[in-house]
Amino acid sequence: MHFPALEQLVDVLGSLPGVGKKSARRIAFHILKSDPEISKRLSDSIATLRREVRFCSQCGGLAEAELCHICSDPQRDQRLLCVVEDPSDVFSIEDTGEFHGLYHVLMGALSPLDGVGPEDLRIEELARRIETHPFDEIFVATNPTLEGDATAHYISEMFADRGFRFTRISHGIATGASIEYADKGTLARSIRERKSLE
Ligand code: ZN
Repeated sequence: MHFPALEQLVDVLGSLPGVGKKSARRIAFHILKSDPEISKRLSDSIATLRREVRFCSQCGGLAEAELCHICSDPQRDQRLLCVVEDPSDVFSIEDTGEFHGLYHVLMGALSPLDGVGPEDLRIEELARRIETHPFDEIFVATNPTLEGDATAHYISEMFADRGFRFTRISHGIATGASIEYADKGTLARSIRERKSLE
C-alpha cells in the first residue's frame, strides 16, 4: 500500500482487541466506501467518549464525574465490595440485577508471564479503601481463569488478617471463561451462589 493515511487507520484498528490485520483492512475500506456521515459520526463519538467518560477516582469504573453513579449512590450496600478485573465487568454484573454493593476495578489480573504484577493493578488503592471503610464482605469476581484465580487468592491472602468474609463467584461460569461473555442468567446464579474463598 502507498496510502499512508489508510495504512495508519489499519494500524490503529489492528491494535484493537480482537481485530486482526485482515479485519482492520476490511473496516478501513468499509469506512472509505461508506457515507462520509458515518465516518464523521464515528470520529465524533470517539472524541465525545474521551471527553465525557473517565474512570471513577474511587472504584476505577466508568464515570462522568469525579465519582461514578454507583460510588455516589447512598442506596448501595456500603458493606459489600465486589472486586473485578475490568470496568466492563461492572456492566455485566449490574445487568444481572443481583448485586447491590460497591465495586473496585483492578484494571487487569495478575499474570507473571505477561509481566503483570500487583503494582500494575489497583491493589494499593484497594488496600487504602479497605483501610478506611468498614466492609463486611469482599466478593472477588475476577474471571475464573488461572490469572483471575491467582489474583483472588493474592487479595484474600493479603487481607487475611482483617476479618472480612471473602467470597468468590460460584462454578456457574466455566473455568477459563470470562465474566464479560457469560450469559446473564449464569452470571446471576454464580453471584447469588457465591461461595467463601479459603
Ligand atoms: Zn466509582
